[in-house]
Amino acid sequence: MTRNSSLPLPPALGNAQFETGPCGAPRSRLFNDTYFDNEDGWAESRHAFLRGCDVENLWRGRDRFSIGETGFGTGLNFLAAWHAWKADAHRPQRLNYISVEGFPLTSQELTGCFSAWPELAPLAAELIRHYPIPQSGYHRLFLAEGQVALTLLMGPVLGMLESFEAEIDAWFLDGFAPDRNPDMWQPNVLKELARLSHDKTRLATFTVASQVRRDLQAAGFRVEKRAGHGKKLEVLAGHFSGPKHKSRVEPWFTPPATVTRGGGHVAVIGSGLAGAATAYAFRRRGWAITVIERHHEIAAEASATPAAILAPRLTAGASLDGAFYSAAWPALLTLLNDLEENGFDVGRQRCGVLRLATTKEEEVRHLAIMTEAALPDPILKWVTAAEASDLAGIQLSSSGLYFPDGGYLSPPLLCAALLQGARILMNRTAAQLIRNKDNWQIKDKNGTTLVTAQCVVLAGGLDCASFQLSRWLPLSARRGQLTQVSATPQSRHLRCVLTGDGHVIPMVDEHHVIGATFDHVHQDERDETQPTPDAEADAHNRALAETLVPGLLSGGKTATKKSWAGLRCTTLDHLPLAGPLPDHAAYLSDFADLRHGHRWSTYPNARYHEGVFVLTGLGAHGVVAAPLAAELLASHVCGDPHPVAQSIVSALHPGRFIVRDLKRQKA
Ligand code: SAM
Repeated sequence: MTRNSSLPLPPALGNAQFETGPCGAPRSRLFNDTYFDNEDGWAESRHAFLRGCDVENLWRGRDRFSIGETGFGTGLNFLAAWHAWKADAHRPQRLNYISVEGFPLTSQELTGCFSAWPELAPLAAELIRHYPIPQSGYHRLFLAEGQVALTLLMGPVLGMLESFEAEIDAWFLDGFAPDRNPDMWQPNVLKELARLSHDKTRLATFTVASQVRRDLQAAGFRVEKRAGHGKKLEVLAGHFSGPKHKSRVEPWFTPPATVTRGGGHVAVIGSGLAGAATAYAFRRRGWAITVIERHHEIAAEASATPAAILAPRLTAGASLDGAFYSAAWPALLTLLNDLEENGFDVGRQRCGVLRLATTKEEEVRHLAIMTEAALPDPILKWVTAAEASDLAGIQLSSSGLYFPDGGYLSPPLLCAALLQGARILMNRTAAQLIRNKDNWQIKDKNGTTLVTAQCVVLAGGLDCASFQLSRWLPLSARRGQLTQVSATPQSRHLRCVLTGDGHVIPMVDEHHVIGATFDHVHQDERDETQPTPDAEADAHNRALAETLVPGLLSGGKTATKKSWAGLRCTTLDHLPLAGPLPDHAAYLSDFADLRHGHRWSTYPNARYHEGVFVLTGLGAHGVVAAPLAAELLASHVCGDPHPVAQSIVSALHPGRFIVRDLKRQKA
């Protein structure tokens, strides 16, 4: 586990104490202020923010445009921007809207906020349908068929902005009046806005307070008062005119060059969960996708299991993997909802997942998870043994952690849904990557070109390390086996997935799927890409089920119907690899002085194999990890804002192991 004692625990979100004011306007009791004026709010928003930043002129002719906001509130400014984008024939292909909110409203509270403006109703309904359960951290929602990406940064404004890396084209500052809410206007917040700005970035706000103007100027913005609209007599508009800020990102994690901001052609090697999620993230951006698969069917290796459990990996205390998996969970739910809304059946059963505390230590750990983890109730609930028994439909003697949105699905069906619209070359093995001008040619071992594309994503599990450029990737294999066993008179009543050291899935066709082994595989055994199931692993799975609920499966004596075995690709720190492929030799020479502990500001930027990216190392958590990791990767390629904090971007960066070894003087 990537435990880091200097990492702060995820901040608890505040409660705005939402109410509807006497004139019907939504307001916060906590801040004693309204979110917007109920009659004129939309017009005021258009005037102050859209016109204040001149967004319609600014985004003309652009492929992508990024608006940043402090104070999402009800999302009225967002809806106003989306509405203007939709109505504009010269709109950019993609609108990125990033908004910070420390006291998020719930989707129920948003419902009814916009009834004064029927024209906004379809957009508001789409926003509310996709709006997440508030949870601290980043959430990315894909609206307007993925062309509008709303990234909500839920948490205190300063910390969230500090965690963020992007170039924002227009800032909307909307954090209640500074005298009521000085936090939102602190000079350090305004300095963060400057850090995330470029020389054409605009800014607009309702606030004309002299202290805010002075602090904005000190941060590098030129501002002027302008006539307001409706009840707002004056508004403020400005632009960034300060010097470009030096990046805070360590040189070995420098963001890669954007491959292309518009659509392009990507070649994805591998059609398991990593490759399929990658294809989906690119398709949402309008790219052409060619997937190369060496088997005669998709998802034929580690993703070829009958069922994968839907529950995030949990950690007690602050850790980078805990932060990644808690961000990955809502990203997965967003993706599954999108697929299901579009008619895809991924075999998802929302029966809930109950993680049982079968030992005293596990019980203590569960309580620590509940007090410290980023996943709040109702996403994750602590339940007593009696409540657990009610949920599970069988008698249990352990307390547990319950994911109401958890369950299980079919990985091959999920891969098939994610690969919709992609061209798939079956029975082809990519063996060489050859750079040819701005493209990559992918050839098989006979030198036949399979595909030529601007961008290549290595997503073939352990095989990601089979190319000359990527041989150094430190991947290891774990053998995983699942077993299908007959139900017993007791187990047939099981209603939800039980997990702990092992797992038991509710009965389907008189059988349960139980699992799973996770055994280290030696280097010389790795050639066997599809291991054969063995009886020892089946017995191990039955023993795991027995530790969860003694006697549930007749003391482990139920008959085995079928078993599945596969090799899972893992990394040393159990986090996926997701990002640009480092030029290994260049890293070793450029960062050689890391062995002597030189300060990082003296190093050049990282060098990559331009246009080559990697997504692998998903271990036993592929379904949960893949969608967010793939979205991060596609954001790198297209120059979109990251969907996670920079600390997570760095934690997933494929160059991390080279740097770690240099620091430990091993390379
Ligand atoms: N733009 C919003 C809309 O369209 O409804 C209105 C925003 S409201 C005026 C200000 C928002 O800032 C509130 O939603 C409030 O919860 C949020 N906020 C206030 N202080 C904050 C802080 N310190 N960190 C993050 N968000 C904060």
